[in-house]
Amino acid sequence: MPSLDITTTSPSSWKYLSEGGATLVFAYAGPSDERFDQTVLRLRKDFTAVEDEKSITLFQTEIISCLVPQEHLVHMEAVMLSFSWLEAVSTLCASSRPAWRTGDIDLKCTSGFLAPNLVSSPISVEIKPKWSFLRPGMRTCRFCMHSSCRGWTTSYCPLDLFSSSPLRMKKALYALYDSWTAGAATQNNFRLFIGGGLVTRNDLLPILRRLGLLHSSIAEENEVRELVVGTLHASLLQPESLTLLKTLNRLQRTLDGVGIEGLASLWDKVYLGKKTFGEGIPQPTLNEWKSFVNEYLEHQNSSVSSQAQPDEVHLRYCILSYLLSATFKDCSIMIKLPDLHHNYSPSQITLIDLDSKPIQRLQKWLEQDRNIAYEYTVISRQMLKKECVDDLDRSTDRLHN
Ligand SMILES: [Zn+2]
Repeated sequence: MPSLDITTTSPSSWKYLSEGGATLVFAYAGPSDERFDQTVLRLRKDFTAVEDEKSITLFQTEIISCLVPQEHLVHMEAVMLSFSWLEAVSTLCASSRPAWRTGDIDLKCTSGFLAPNLVSSPISVEIKPKWSFLRPGMRTCRFCMHSSCRGWTTSYCPLDLFSSSPLRMKKALYALYDSWTAGAATQNNFRLFIGGGLVTRNDLLPILRRLGLLHSSIAEENEVRELVVGTLHASLLQPESLTLLKTLNRLQRTLDGVGIEGLASLWDKVYLGKKTFGEGIPQPTLNEWKSFVNEYLEHQNSSVSSQAQPDEVHLRYCILSYLLSATFKDCSIMIKLPDLHHNYSPSQITLIDLDSKPIQRLQKWLEQDRNIAYEYTVISRQMLKKECVDDLDRSTDRLHN
């Protein structure tokens, strides 16, 4: 049972901040209280009960922290909740939630998470970068294939953001910003928080003015675009940001291993068609995760590969690897900016949303991947195939150097 009881605070002290597919986030805005000042509360949605809060915290503190430096992670603490308290929060936040939201707070949940408020600084940017690498033999990255199939009007390519070229990084940031201003909120790749709250394109200029974050000479939206992208770019070019991007890229790439198709074919070799892909296997235990991470770190610079003699132990290793890669492919980067300047000012970069993924999703991911690849092949017959450039892909190097 968590020691900190959040129900001693008034539900109205928690201001709706944002939400993702599985959780809602509230910022503390009540009377000063050293336990809650500068914190956010993360509450689970009602259809996502996979793991208890303790397992989620342990996954972060024991597993993720072996792979990502502590200074880029948030400390999460489990807190006690109650049905009536959650019911009040749910009613209070209803009008603040976007129309496209899905799911409600899980009122039966008895614990939630308290974490530092990363959007309390004047400006914070959340980027969900998605898959940062090119699968071997492919010319278009997963994100670009997906966005093309969905008809998203964005020129964002994650491979630009993760490239070693400052110009390409800036191109990615412009693309993220532009699809955000075009109202593509449901894509969820870019979110801007100013003065502690989520802002939309329409409130951007007035809020920046009200908080005195804008020089009076700036009157055009285009100048604000330059300023936001320029500041973000300068912040991402700092050594600690570049190192974190490299780490995330390496984790996504190496943990992806044989890929979902490779995993499905390995599964068939092991079970000889007697068991459907991903069926009847348990979610990894904490001890399993620990031994996996130890083994992975021992072979850090090499991806997992198909063995000549596929067996269940190797299959399990590859499944855990893929699951963990899914966590890193779906996480967000949070950047705290103290000000808006083209020049560098000290910022803080953190990875968030690093929960373990349910093992039951393997079959769904396989189907999704196959659908995207199929649809993209059909679409790209009528148009030019997009060429995404992966810095670490040797075949692309040859094409572009
Ligand atoms: Zn791409």
